[in-house]
Amino acid sequence: MSLRIPTYADVETARGRIAGLAHRTPVLSSRTADARVGATLFFKAENLQRAGAFKFRGACNAIGALDADARKRGVVSYSSGNHAQAIAYAARLLDVAATIVMPSDAPAIKLSATKGYGAEIIFYDRYNEDREEIAGRVAAERGAAIIPPYDHPDVIAGQGTAVAEMVEDVGALDMLVVPLGGGGLLAGSALAAGALSPGCRVFGVEPAVGNDGQQSLQKGEIVRIAVPKSIADGALTPAVGRCNFPILRERVENVVTVSDEELVDTMKFFVERMKIVVEPTGCLAAAAVLHAKLDCAGLRVGIVLSGGNVDLPALAGFLAG
Ligand SMILES: *Cc1c(COP(=O)(O)O)cnc(C)c1O
Repeated sequence: MSLRIPTYADVETARGRIAGLAHRTPVLSSRTADARVGATLFFKAENLQRAGAFKFRGACNAIGALDADARKRGVVSYSSGNHAQAIAYAARLLDVAATIVMPSDAPAIKLSATKGYGAEIIFYDRYNEDREEIAGRVAAERGAAIIPPYDHPDVIAGQGTAVAEMVEDVGALDMLVVPLGGGGLLAGSALAAGALSPGCRVFGVEPAVGNDGQQSLQKGEIVRIAVPKSIADGALTPAVGRCNFPILRERVENVVTVSDEELVDTMKFFVERMKIVVEPTGCLAAAAVLHAKLDCAGLRVGIVLSGGNVDLPALAGFLAG
């Protein structure tokens, strides 16, 4: 299968497709945060996006790209997290049937959210079965399109729309800092920054224990690691995607890492000072800036807050700790 690597033109197309479906989320600022790092920070609040994360953008764009026949056959995806909810919700809004392959031990809250959006759920045993194989079989039986969480040109292009909006709203940036899991958000963001804010330096941020993206950029090839343990559950990917990597290589200057403690500290900062709930994975980029992993002094820095989905008991635990 040949790879189609998206370009900025695909991000532009995505903006038209998601208009009226995805929220144009606000860009927030905080004098306290600015003073802490001596920079001007712009926070793109995708925790306030529909279904609670930027993944709704890629989901809308990928489903929106299907022709009428393909839409009738439905879509299949696999995820235990934000992508499942995004696909389920986008499919419902676009009147397309969605089937999600989810682990049988997925958190009840994620199951009920996905079901609540009207998706069919197929369970698998995450220790003994391969979700991509199951999704492939179901898709083949139904002639349905598979929409993976990050390794897909329309998903990447959709994710790039958040940074396109941010630059439109606040003007050119010196630096852009973005959470990194499989690289859909970072690749799309880098395409948008490259076109709309030329010269902007782009950085990815991973959990310290799951630095496969950092290793991949250093090595010049995709490095696969054992699935790490971190509270950044949206970034626990073993490797970046094949469509994503060439874009990251060309446009991302470096990947830095943060610890779980730094993520918790950042979650607290957002609740206490900015009155917003950002999930641990959504705090990656902000944690890197607030904990001085990057030298931002005097710069205009864009930071993507990628999502806000965290259970109340978990949130209470993080804030109390
Ligand atoms: C999926 C996700 C990420 C990582 O995105 P990729 O496109 O896989 O790199 C970051 N933050 C949140 C909240 C997510 O749901």
